Amino acid sequence: MKIVSVESRIVSLPFDMGGPPAAFAGKPWTHLDILLVRVETDEGLVGWGEAFGHAGIHATRAALDTIVAPLVIGRSSGDIAELNRSILHAVHLLGRNGPFVYAFAGIEIALWDLAGKRANLPVARLLGGGSRTEMDAYASLLAYNDPSLVEKNTKAACKAGYRYIKLHEVTRETVAAGAKAAAKAGAKLMVDVNCLWSVPAALEMADAFRPHDLFWFEEPVWPPEDAQGLARVRACGIPIAAGENTAGLHGFKALVEAGAIDIAQPSVTKIGGITEMLRVFAYCTAHGVTVTPHCPYFGPGFIASLHIISALAERPLVEVLWLEMEANPFDPWVKPVDGRVKLPPGPGLGCDPDPAIVERYTAGEVVRTGGAVPMKARGRGKTAP
Ligand SMILES: [Mg+2]
Repeated sequence: MKIVSVESRIVSLPFDMGGPPAAFAGKPWTHLDILLVRVETDEGLVGWGEAFGHAGIHATRAALDTIVAPLVIGRSSGDIAELNRSILHAVHLLGRNGPFVYAFAGIEIALWDLAGKRANLPVARLLGGGSRTEMDAYASLLAYNDPSLVEKNTKAACKAGYRYIKLHEVTRETVAAGAKAAAKAGAKLMVDVNCLWSVPAALEMADAFRPHDLFWFEEPVWPPEDAQGLARVRACGIPIAAGENTAGLHGFKALVEAGAIDIAQPSVTKIGGITEMLRVFAYCTAHGVTVTPHCPYFGPGFIASLHIISALAERPLVEVLWLEMEANPFDPWVKPVDGRVKLPPGPGLGCDPDPAIVERYTAGEVVRTGGAVPMKARGRGKTAP
């Protein structure tokens, strides 16, 4: 079960968010980019993973192709705990939160896919769950910065069956527009401002949002590691959610010890993969903190989040971005129906990507690290695009 190759590619999917494209790093955001990772073993088995990319996808890919992938070639794909320890130790001086950890997450998710395929069991079963095959989702709306578009899309998401709506709006007017539409439909509202404010500004806005009875207020404070500042905002009584920018178990330990969060939001493609997610779940649950994963992804990172969530007794909501993709190689599993998502039933992650869609939307080259699989092993595992 040795790892013989790691392939990386960017799959770039056009999408429509129900309004003008949001901007990021000075460019309109028109495509969802998946950094898709394919890991093959000497048994001829193939596992799939996803590493966090967003606007920094080329940085994560460079970390993967030049450092992390070469480190795992020749290692046993079944030694997931050992690889977590040794690879993350090998790259720790390059950053404990950033491209190298994201890159490892892409491989780590693929290792769990391989473990499930080898055992002929879904990953959720390996994690101790799996009988819950449908989960409630929440609609995570992108930023519109326009009250009428916020109202329109909140209404549409409620009509599509979502009972929980999250806005990425930062003004009194846009949040009020979403709150009005959500309240009318009987849906609960969350607001995520991506670490925008100082503590005094966050306190002022928490006060302004008080009439909306938020289900949670997400990342109100800059910088995300200001646990004491977050705790001051939490003291005003609105439930605080954070964690997508938190480094590993010990980052969450700092937030919990400071009394900074009600809801922890670890992110499987950022935190280093499934193993670290499980450690955060165990720790936060033991300290009375709810865990609701951050998972606005569209490939194996999203599917891995479904398996984790399915296995948890706490039944957290699944985050789904409110948008329409032209196509996705993981359809139909990335598309909620009536505000709910289904767990793919097959072994591993349960759904290999559609090769034709992968090929059609691959942007740029495919980089392969490692060698070819011996001919005699080929055909035993899933074929790859
Ligand atoms: Mg967020």
